[in-house]
Amino acid sequence: MTSYDDGNIFAKILRGEIPSHRVYEDADTVAFMDVMPQGEGHLLVVPKAPSRNLLDASPETLAKLLPVVQKLARAAKTAFAADGVTILQFNEQAAGQTVFHLHVHIVPRFEGVPLRPHSGTMEKPEILAANAEKVRAALSAG
Ligand code: 5GP
Repeated sequence: MTSYDDGNIFAKILRGEIPSHRVYEDADTVAFMDVMPQGEGHLLVVPKAPSRNLLDASPETLAKLLPVVQKLARAAKTAFAADGVTILQFNEQAAGQTVFHLHVHIVPRFEGVPLRPHSGTMEKPEILAANAEKVRAALSAG
């Protein structure tokens, strides 16, 4: 298996070397807005521990990740008054993975609205900032 490379964009975001619209952080996990959202409020949940994807992640990393995915999925559904939530996770290039640090996609869904293309169009920073604030508000409202 190809090994983890800490030059990937999410490792840089975790180290604070490039900016992101963060909505959540704990000792093991960070969540921020996807810059090319497949739907309004598309979030990424990223463990701090290094792994390329689900295939090489430790059981401990995975065990800590899913409760945070659930927390953020609930918050995103509330924040955007969504009808549902799609959870996506890609493993290796052949499966559609483009950033090689484990992450889980959370995409709020609305009846009759299709997913936009994966890694499609960059969203405006002001929209990402406003959406991040909605998620933070939903999280703090519990
Ligand atoms: P993957 O294909 O690896 O599952 O998904 C990578 C995701 O990261 C894509 O949805 C893409 O839009 C997003 N992305 C790529 N570069 C950046 C970035 O610099 N910042 C953020 N926040 N998201 C990014």
